[in-house]
Amino acid sequence: MKHLARTLLCLTLLSALNANAQPERPRLVVGIVVDQMRWDFLYTFHDQWRSDGFRRLLEQGFSCANTMIDYVPTVTACGHASVYTGTTPAVHGIAGNNYKINGINTSSVRDNSVTGVGTTTTTGQRSPRNLLVTTLADELKLATRFQARVIGIALKDRAAILPAGHAADAAYWWDGKAPGFISSSYYMEQLPKWVSQFNSKHKNTLGQNLMLRQEGVTMTFDLAIEALKNEQLGQDGVTDLLAISISTTDAAAHKWGTRSTQLDTIYRQLDTQIARLLTTLDQTVGQGNYLIFLTADHGGTHNEPFMTGHKLPSGRFYDYKLREATNKKLSEKFHVDNLITDAMEYSFYLNNHAIDSAELDRDDVAREVCRILEADPTVQWAVDIHRLADKPIPAELRERIIKGYHAGRSGEIFVQPYVGHYASWDGDIAGSNHGTWNQSDSHIPLIFYGWHIPHGERTQPNGMIDIAPTIAAMLHIQAPDGTLGKPIPIKPDN
Ligand SMILES: [Zn+2]
Repeated sequence: MKHLARTLLCLTLLSALNANAQPERPRLVVGIVVDQMRWDFLYTFHDQWRSDGFRRLLEQGFSCANTMIDYVPTVTACGHASVYTGTTPAVHGIAGNNYKINGINTSSVRDNSVTGVGTTTTTGQRSPRNLLVTTLADELKLATRFQARVIGIALKDRAAILPAGHAADAAYWWDGKAPGFISSSYYMEQLPKWVSQFNSKHKNTLGQNLMLRQEGVTMTFDLAIEALKNEQLGQDGVTDLLAISISTTDAAAHKWGTRSTQLDTIYRQLDTQIARLLTTLDQTVGQGNYLIFLTADHGGTHNEPFMTGHKLPSGRFYDYKLREATNKKLSEKFHVDNLITDAMEYSFYLNNHAIDSAELDRDDVAREVCRILEADPTVQWAVDIHRLADKPIPAELRERIIKGYHAGRSGEIFVQPYVGHYASWDGDIAGSNHGTWNQSDSHIPLIFYGWHIPHGERTQPNGMIDIAPTIAAMLHIQAPDGTLGKPIPIKPDN
């Protein structure tokens, strides 16, 4: 009897020790990035939100109401990388949607060393290799001895790949030519059966241009819910991570504008799908067992016809025309052609090879480039990154330029148009754009919901790069290794 009592005591102690061996964590972390969702959209669409969708997040979750992007340019690839790495392009290396590596133009997740899976097109040649640091998901993998399951899903390649990180089990993005959700040989040899079956089942719908249709939202959530079921996310004692990004909201705003009826319809659909996801998570993972964060990769500037129609400051900025005009003037002065090789996402690239060959003074050329650019009525500041300290610009903007500049990948001349102006193309009248440091582009929603999250709102400012260290701190895992952000106190301050 005494022996049995001792055995029982030992077992009780052991089980108590085991219970304490694993830190307390949610079963599942779900990151939702809504592409080009301005912060004020939470309230622009407030009267149409369902009680079980966005309103459930707002009324039960915790909103960090002054979350700003910490760098420029405020574009998709930089945003998705920064949310999940807790750092900025200067460190993580994703310097834009498009940038240069060793003088060669590339896109953020382009990787010619891999092949597509589920497609024969080049859309499958993608991986996270250009990302120089770990993500939140990678740290979760490390903390759980790679037992955590990590999956990224989006219509856009970069929006699925960058959040999922280097050690992900899978990232799935959409290829309209396949048509279907695809992946690459970086992750797998062939699509799992459930993804192939999903593509076959939706073949007719997938054949449409999903990016501009509300079905694009539905289909993204459909695949995410299939992933939850088939990969059994959140079903064991190890925390998993599902990264979802909604691309349709961005494509529609670019085409029809931030105040269009088409975008309105797409946000209603998003609200419905968020409600569906929450209900599914309640049923499969259990209420209180999952942790959600919802944010955006950037906001968006209202288009010119809408703004000028209401006498508000606005204008369009044509970087490709400015590059041509500036090159012409530089050629007259320095007798060398093409001294600016590219203009991408408010960044102008000096042709250092031509400057060296012609034995020109690099600083002279850069100064002249800035002078010419600033003479344009749409440009407020043109800044040589190497002469940033001498430029009389607001310290906040200087800081964001430095944080967004990645040596060797970004252009050395940064251009900031006047407030309300945005990069545009001929004939593109209705669409919005983004990329600047202004509130319209850099103020993003951030809502935490679920596991250990009290209801409330914080009005103190915080940065996009604070998201990953906040989740890492809650999970008791290491923050991503390039982290510059700080954990946000999830406590109401009003
Ligand atoms: Zn975007």
